[in-house]
Amino acid sequence: MKLVVISNRIAPFDPNKPQTGGLAAALEPVVERCGAVWVGSSEECGDGTERPLRLEPTGTGYVSRLDLPAADHPGYYRGFSNSTLWPALHSLPDRMSVSEDDYDSYQRTNGFIARAVFDARDRDVFWVHDYHLLPLGAQLNELGIERPAGFFLHTPWPAPDMVERVPNHLELMKSTLKYDLLGFQTNRDMNNYSAYLRTHFGLETRDGIVTTERGQTRLKKFPIGIDPRQFADYLAADLSPAEQKKVSSLLQNFEGSKFAIGVDRLDYTKGIDKRVEGFNQLLRTEPHSISLLQIAPSSRADVEQYQKYKEDVESAINRVNAEHGTDRWRPIHYKNDSFSQAALARLYRAAHVGVVTPLRDGMNLVAKEYVAAQDPKDPGVLVLSKFAGAAEDFNENEALLVDPNHPEEIAAAISKASHMPLEERVTRWRSMMDKIESYTIHDWAADYVSELDKSRVTVPADQ
Ligand code: UDP
Repeated sequence: MKLVVISNRIAPFDPNKPQTGGLAAALEPVVERCGAVWVGSSEECGDGTERPLRLEPTGTGYVSRLDLPAADHPGYYRGFSNSTLWPALHSLPDRMSVSEDDYDSYQRTNGFIARAVFDARDRDVFWVHDYHLLPLGAQLNELGIERPAGFFLHTPWPAPDMVERVPNHLELMKSTLKYDLLGFQTNRDMNNYSAYLRTHFGLETRDGIVTTERGQTRLKKFPIGIDPRQFADYLAADLSPAEQKKVSSLLQNFEGSKFAIGVDRLDYTKGIDKRVEGFNQLLRTEPHSISLLQIAPSSRADVEQYQKYKEDVESAINRVNAEHGTDRWRPIHYKNDSFSQAALARLYRAAHVGVVTPLRDGMNLVAKEYVAAQDPKDPGVLVLSKFAGAAEDFNENEALLVDPNHPEEIAAAISKASHMPLEERVTRWRSMMDKIESYTIHDWAADYVSELDKSRVTVPADQ
């Protein structure tokens, strides 16, 4: 089957370049395995001139990098996608900014991408990714593309009252019903989406199917996974000398003592500030008991709210270090830098606790990567936000589930994790690892694509 994948960003397709987004990390192996065409932004803008789709081979797959129109880019990307939809989808209304002009730029950019993708109309199925491209299926439809189109949402889907705050939400939501398949990370997301359809359009979802004048849209949960074998390979292979040096000098800080690790894009949805406060509270009751390694590469650094968040996180870390640190011991080691996954695997492995406490998250791949990198004989413990998609996969007998808004819960969970007996750690870890191995990133992709393939129009032989 000939697949077209469309997303805002395309992976670098270079094992030496660090990836800081879950989507890019997730899709690269899919494209290579399926020989797919992956269309996305070149991350350079153009004057909006429409050109024939140009395919560059990546190995077995192809990429096509589009120069999105410069005039609409701020409204499309920084505006509607990341300042309106992103906070709405993460149920953080106070972070939202709203502008009709941004919405228009968003629609026009989706139209530009749809017209570029038109050149690939002879391929079998189209798989669209994430909130930047919600209306793309409708735009492909308008161009007369008859092939099945599916959409997968990597973020959470919120309750109807959050969606109602998005300008033109009715039009936007109608356009999502032009897809044949809508994939979500969790049941909670899918139920929230169905609740909107019921409230605003009087449409019922029956057995995961919504029927409209156009036909059927199927809703299904596809909880994204990782490649656990790749993590085992990372741990077995040597790092480059430069990376080895970077990792060793970090790990030196924790020799002979316990440490927890957090790895997050510097994004306000990740709850890093609350985690730091939780750590602060823990050190007040258990001084010098454990350190935190917080890796937080910058993200969307051109958005003001992100600059402010970075300042807030850094000053919270400085306060904790000033209150609890000594000449010989620093409670929090913070790296505003990105690491390769091979380097992360080493750091995850050495850490006694993985702290993953986003306020909301579609899935959170770091949670699964932390588990996959553990030593089966002496595994660390995962402290996990109840509001990460991963918490629908891992229950309270596996991870230590916390409310990420409550630092005292985070403090108690880190303390419990750091004192947990070996037998309990092994039992919890084994159960999570079995789940990770039974539905990998490859299973996720194959599952989605085969589900999408069911929507292919079959013309009876006698017609
Ligand atoms: N990541 C990385 N280097 C870094 C930080 C993160 O390669 O320095 C990767 C990490 O291994 C994971 C992804 O980026 O695969 C983050 O995915 P997640 O779902 O946790 O969060 P997102 O960034 O998509 O919100």
